[in-house]
Amino acid sequence: MPISEFELIKQYFDDSAAQKQCADLVLGIGDDGAIISPRPDHDLIVAVDTLVAGVHFLSEANPYDIGFRSLAVNLSDLAAMGAEPAWFTLALTLPGADEEWLKEFSRGLFELARSHQLPLIGGDTTRGPLTISIQVLGYVPSAQALCRSGAKVGDLIYVTGSLGDAAGGLSLLQDKESSLQDDYLQTRFLRPQARLNIGQCLRGLAHAAIDVSDGLLADIGHIVKRSGVGARIDLARLPLSAQLKAVFGSERAIEMALSGGDDYELCFCVAPTQADKVAELAKQADLAITCIGCVDAEPGVRLYNTQGEPADSTLAAGYQHF
Ligand code: ADP
Ligand code: MG
Repeated sequence: MPISEFELIKQYFDDSAAQKQCADLVLGIGDDGAIISPRPDHDLIVAVDTLVAGVHFLSEANPYDIGFRSLAVNLSDLAAMGAEPAWFTLALTLPGADEEWLKEFSRGLFELARSHQLPLIGGDTTRGPLTISIQVLGYVPSAQALCRSGAKVGDLIYVTGSLGDAAGGLSLLQDKESSLQDDYLQTRFLRPQARLNIGQCLRGLAHAAIDVSDGLLADIGHIVKRSGVGARIDLARLPLSAQLKAVFGSERAIEMALSGGDDYELCFCVAPTQADKVAELAKQADLAITCIGCVDAEPGVRLYNTQGEPADSTLAAGYQHF
């Protein structure tokens, strides 16, 4: 007998223990809706991301990784807003009630949720092609959220961590025959680390921020458009991991850094007078934070090569679904 919808929710998604720990939650899973009593003097940030099998992950991917990654990419949106995660909801479309799959999926999902004391407070369960839609909610002190729209001419542009690793990892996962397998790169695709701590520290420091989900060029493009400015990026300064360069060579590594998505690093703009604060933050967080260019008044994103000459920007346009 396949498990019923209600048993399935109870067995794999009942999160009452974490819900009890949560002061602002009046009522979690079990009614028609959850009841939240939000903190005063804070804004609520709400973000949702959908992952479709065959588009955002390989259908045969390990369900633990799918669970982890579905929540991680959503937390990354909160990180980019400078928010502290508070709750999440899960709309799950499943081709069938495969309990082995559900067990591993929920294990990956809740492992990440627990590490942020983040309760699951509701959701929906339907049958259809495998699709995972997660909504996250988080807090920012009133009027302190980081937006894409605040970049100013003269700002320095920074990115956390290294870029292109997830695109490299995905390429290796898709090409199992390749003799160049690299665990670090694959893990960078499968288990993104939302930069929540950095995002929160950037409140009051960064003028604009975004998480790198579609590829650096596309995502900086969003910042400059929303801010009514332009950007200059120096290719020689892009932070590339030793592993990415070793497996794919420097040229492909740069292409992946510019146009490969899924890194979930933060890209942000800071006044040059605040550069020492960024350096201090990198030290505290024990994470590379690299200046890759600056904001200027000429619309668009322009790339410069190692000699400081304009480089080809058809290199990379970022991933677009339509
Ligand atoms: P309704 O018919 O009112 O939409 P459902 O039967 O869909 O209610 O869901 C019953 C309860 O279980 C609700 O509180 C809902 O939020 C929760 N729920 C359903 N699916 C999930 C899921 N995948 N994860 C977490 N909670 C879920
Ligand atoms: Mg429902």
